[in-house]
Amino acid sequence: MSVNVAEVFGSDVFNEAVMKERLPKDTYTQLMDLIENGGEVTLALADVVAKSMKDWAIEKGATHYTHIFQPYIVSGGAEKHDSFADVPEKGKIENSFTGKNLLMGEPDASSFPSGGLRATNSARGYTIWDITSPCYVRERILYIPTVFLSYTGESLDTKTPLLKSVEAVSDAGVRLVRMFGNTEAKKVVAAVGPEQEYFIVDRDKYLKRPDLIYTGRTLFGAPAPKGQQMDDHYFGSLKEVISNYMDDCNEQLWKLGITAKTQHNEVAPAQHEIAPIFAKSNIAMDSNMIVMDVLKKTAVKHNLQCLLHEKPYAGVNGSGKHNNWSLSTDNGVNLFKPGDEPHKNRQFLLVIACLMEAVKKHSLLLRAVASNTGNDHRLGANEAPPAIISIYMGDQLGEIVEQIIEKGYADACSHSGTIDLGVKTIPVIEKDPTDRNRTSPFAFTGNRFEFRMVASSVSIGDSNTVLNTMMAEAFTKACDALEGAEDFEKACDEYIAKVMRENKDIVFNGDGYSDAWVEEAERRGLPNCKSVVDAIAESFTSQSTIDLFTKNRVLTERELEARKDIKLEEYSSLISIEAKTMIDMAGKEYIPSVMEYMTELANSLTKVTTACPEADVTTQKKMLIETSTYLSQANAALTDLKAKLETADQGDVTATAKYYHEVIMPAMEALRAPIDELEEIVDCKYWPVPTYGELMFEV
Ligand code: ADP
Ligand code: MG
Repeated sequence: MSVNVAEVFGSDVFNEAVMKERLPKDTYTQLMDLIENGGEVTLALADVVAKSMKDWAIEKGATHYTHIFQPYIVSGGAEKHDSFADVPEKGKIENSFTGKNLLMGEPDASSFPSGGLRATNSARGYTIWDITSPCYVRERILYIPTVFLSYTGESLDTKTPLLKSVEAVSDAGVRLVRMFGNTEAKKVVAAVGPEQEYFIVDRDKYLKRPDLIYTGRTLFGAPAPKGQQMDDHYFGSLKEVISNYMDDCNEQLWKLGITAKTQHNEVAPAQHEIAPIFAKSNIAMDSNMIVMDVLKKTAVKHNLQCLLHEKPYAGVNGSGKHNNWSLSTDNGVNLFKPGDEPHKNRQFLLVIACLMEAVKKHSLLLRAVASNTGNDHRLGANEAPPAIISIYMGDQLGEIVEQIIEKGYADACSHSGTIDLGVKTIPVIEKDPTDRNRTSPFAFTGNRFEFRMVASSVSIGDSNTVLNTMMAEAFTKACDALEGAEDFEKACDEYIAKVMRENKDIVFNGDGYSDAWVEEAERRGLPNCKSVVDAIAESFTSQSTIDLFTKNRVLTERELEARKDIKLEEYSSLISIEAKTMIDMAGKEYIPSVMEYMTELANSLTKVTTACPEADVTTQKKMLIETSTYLSQANAALTDLKAKLETADQGDVTATAKYYHEVIMPAMEALRAPIDELEEIVDCKYWPVPTYGELMFEV
């Protein structure tokens, strides 16, 4: 089956072309203007749009509509479907969908985490149409992207702050480019291309692993004989089952107007990646949510399971989400584009200085928002960036920054030249001015920065909210200092040198996986926060974070406090589920299976000794002793974990999360270790669940 992307692309989206064709001309013009420039969406306008949208959706087979929103930290969208059914009259009904239905919804959403912003007795919350993100029909439902607020106007989702941050960085960015004589730009647009990594596992095997079902990762499992040592999976040829699955996902995504572009096998066995073409950050966020949902649902159709968890298997790489991020004016100037002579590109250098200041100042916050419980297994484990935030500038920009730091200006810039293989039939190519540095959490890639730390299963909303807002803050500071300067160029050069010098420690072009860097970073005083609990506790409501978000009107102090509590509660709940799953699996599956195996060993021992008293039974004895030793270790660890879990509630969200991290997690590891040892010695016919080898290689 082959699909022509140009023919199917956007066919299920109420996009600009559809609106142009179907809406009355003045409604279309008005709506386009609102999408571009903002303003009040009147009920009258919404009524006209809703009617046209309803007719279109019904033609597409829709029976229901829903406001879709992303409650804070709940990964994936929340949706409640309403059919188009109206009140019956004489036994007949009409399809109904009004402007009010389009504009706002009022879900009783008291069950979503709110961090104390709403109690169950004051549950009212609103969803409001986000006109900038297109509506679409998927599986007979008309989806309307929305934001989600409490009755008192506090944001309860990931999108509201992102939209606010987009405006903040746009306003400050326009101010900045004005200083350089750009009188045309009306906006600075934050764009994102999120690369999404994921694992695929056979669904029948998945269903035999309670740990995968309840937690998305394996909590036990001895290494398979083969892992990723051969480097033969990365970019390897796709298995047929995987390429059929990818084809199916791509077709659905294209119909939904998502530019699924790149796909390949990733480093770990059964790990893959999909990346769309970059888009405005709020649209990229909505699209990424759809990508994750399509990946998961489509897998089930193919009798597969898609794991978005950051670390499904110990011992092989986990999954991340590389957040490629750029800022460009609406008249086509990418603020991160160095141009041919970057050392003379004053605007570019000021932007880089601002970036250095912002990343240095908010490094812990960046680390916290990109992370979740699962990502703690990756960061700093030599497969993903370290938990220390630094910026990789690459050779060309790195040298320029060094010159400025040393002498206050840069008068030279290296060019990378060409690669000429000397083979007549192979074309000579221009090299990129930057190499790749996969060990850096924040890498310059020529016209964008790649924030490589983001957790694979989370929304990209939080990370981009911080990226945009921290730039708004740094741009504003630069503009306050430079606007109206008598000699702007001189003042600007001095400002760039000053800011780069003050923040030089955030630049690191070396190997981020090395131990030497950990020591060096400590000397430089850069935070190295190993656990997401500490990162959240220390950064979410710190004075610099409160100032950052309140001054740019992105989040209030109360909203930040609520978000901190929600994140920490999420941590505790997830670890608690993991611990309980381990207790269940150890007590009900592993230990009974090991005892059966021991019975067989014991039977063999007695039977052989009875039949032939002279026979050598040292092997059976040795195996019995070894097995029973690990079994008693497992049993002791199980009892210990149960006991520790009982006293987990420390009465305070932060203290409880810390307890889960510092007490429960090590107790879980202590239980895993003897069970994994047992897996290596127990006869496989007794082993109750699929092994790592079966999960990763038998897809
Ligand atoms: P990699 O080689 O790093 O794995 P991919 O091709 O998988 O790269 O993904 C790169 C991502 O960066 C894509 O989503 C791409 O659209 C995006 N991208 C390219 N240019 C920009 C830009 N200027 N701003 C934001 N994202 C960009
Ligand atoms: Mg990629």
